[in-house]
Amino acid sequence: MSEKRIKNIIIIGGGTAGWMSAATLSRILKNGYANITLIESEAIGTISVGEATIPQILTFNSMLGLDENDFVKKTNATFKLGIEFVNWSQIGDSYIHPFGSYGIDMEGVAFHHFVLKENARRKARGQAQLDIEDFCIQSAAAKKDKFMRPIRAQRSVLERIVYAFQFDAVLYAKYLREFSEHHGTKRIEGKVVEAHQNSETGFVESVTLENGQNIEGDLFIDCSGFKGLLIEKTLKAGYTDWSKWLPCDRAVAIPCESVGEPIPYTRATAHKAGWQWRIPLQHRVGNGHVYCSQYMSEDEATQILIDNLDGEPIAEPRHIKFTTGHRKKFWDKNVVSFGLAAGFMEPLESTSIHLIQSGLARLMTLFPYKGIEPAEVDHFNRSTLIEYERTRDFLILHYHLTKRNDSPFWDYCRTMEIPEFLQTKMDLYRTNGRIFRDNDELFNETSWLAVFFGQKLDAQGYHPITNTVDSKEVERRLMHIFDATKQAADVMPLHWQYIKDNCRA
Ligand SMILES: Cc1cc2nc3c(=O)[nH]c(=O)nc-3n(C[C@H](O)[C@H](O)[C@H](O)COP(=O)(O)OP(=O)(O)OC[C@H]3O[C@@H](n4cnc5c(N)ncnc54)[C@H](O)[C@@H]3O)c2cc1C
Repeated sequence: MSEKRIKNIIIIGGGTAGWMSAATLSRILKNGYANITLIESEAIGTISVGEATIPQILTFNSMLGLDENDFVKKTNATFKLGIEFVNWSQIGDSYIHPFGSYGIDMEGVAFHHFVLKENARRKARGQAQLDIEDFCIQSAAAKKDKFMRPIRAQRSVLERIVYAFQFDAVLYAKYLREFSEHHGTKRIEGKVVEAHQNSETGFVESVTLENGQNIEGDLFIDCSGFKGLLIEKTLKAGYTDWSKWLPCDRAVAIPCESVGEPIPYTRATAHKAGWQWRIPLQHRVGNGHVYCSQYMSEDEATQILIDNLDGEPIAEPRHIKFTTGHRKKFWDKNVVSFGLAAGFMEPLESTSIHLIQSGLARLMTLFPYKGIEPAEVDHFNRSTLIEYERTRDFLILHYHLTKRNDSPFWDYCRTMEIPEFLQTKMDLYRTNGRIFRDNDELFNETSWLAVFFGQKLDAQGYHPITNTVDSKEVERRLMHIFDATKQAADVMPLHWQYIKDNCRA
């Protein structure tokens, strides 16, 4: 495709995706290896939502070499142990999808098989069922509003604490901007109005700003948001629409004042035609209602959100339209897209920031040091697509695995046809409680299990190797883990106290 060594990298957009890209590139391609320029337009602004993350962000922070307490302070962040899902299986139900894992695998068999066995025994005797959440330190701590980072304590559950962050999206971009500029990224304020392509190769050679300035580049990173300024408007990469599986296509966001101390988890509450997020930060609470415009009007969605805020609103409602799906090519010619320019799956499992991060990791692995090679571009596109599809299927599970029949929206979700990969996952669990993680799948066994358990997909069997352990012994071991988890959660400090002691903004 091109024999040219990449010297000038131009990032279009200064939202979360743009500044994550600038931070990564300026950190890795250092000592003048490449010139990194970011163009953003304050007049256009950023989407300014995207405040909940997953634990992989710790890898990103450590790659950049960030001081975590400083990062938490400057982004008004809180810690996150998982997501509480309310009203998803049926109105009145709730469960936590925690980070980390449940219990300890025994006899070479995944832990949950022992819970399934014990619950089958208890059911036969008319006894109360065990709740898998009681075997996970993240869930147990979240329910008590407790938090601490993992500590070195051999054989203690406290060694196994896994967490992420909830932060202010605007402050996050600002934080990464400072980092990137410090590491050599040049920022240009201005609106890109035109892109110029090579007449033979179609590669983008330069972009022109509203003030007439022309900026040339060898590699362009499109982080321009939903419109995909270069990847779509210039290169016409095309878009795959997934709304038949993830039908929500609107969001309304309203931050509100905090009432009470911030809790260490995000909440996702299902409503009649969508769901509401609640993300507690140090200085406010982020809220939004993601809904499907086919089943609900903007006014109704906004009213539902206002009625369900727990503090006074501190901004006017902001309305966002989107189509769930992705660019047919995430990387085309010399343009690589990240963030909303690459695609969007709704924020139900806080995956978008992670997809930017993993896309950047993939780009760095395949970085075109000697020029852009079609085989490498194809590999990038193929593996990104797999990651998107697997993530999509996990999101669909939440909608499809419901008993709700109180609205046409839930009737649609409950009865829709689902992708084969998801159907296989559900069938494997339903038959014998088995869960397999596919190679690069983002969500692990804990995640699938959390939703299967929480949304009540009954497993009709469990692994036969559990029968090699006597039932009384199974019960004894489970109770031991139950007690150890409970005691560990009891000794942890309150989340807010931990922040005050370590990283208060
Ligand atoms: C409702 C909603 C909730 C979300 N919640 C979460 C969440 O909890 N967790 C999570 O991980 N993700 C979440 N996301 C996704 C997350 O917000 C995005 O992945 C993230 O903010 C990245 O956005 P971006 O940088 O791609 O786009 P934007 O923030 O839209 O930035 C686009 C940038 O491009 C610039 N630009 C555009 N056009 C031009 C031009 N012509 N010239 C110059 N500059 C230009 C803009 O000025 C801006 O700087 C959510 C998304 C939505 C819609």
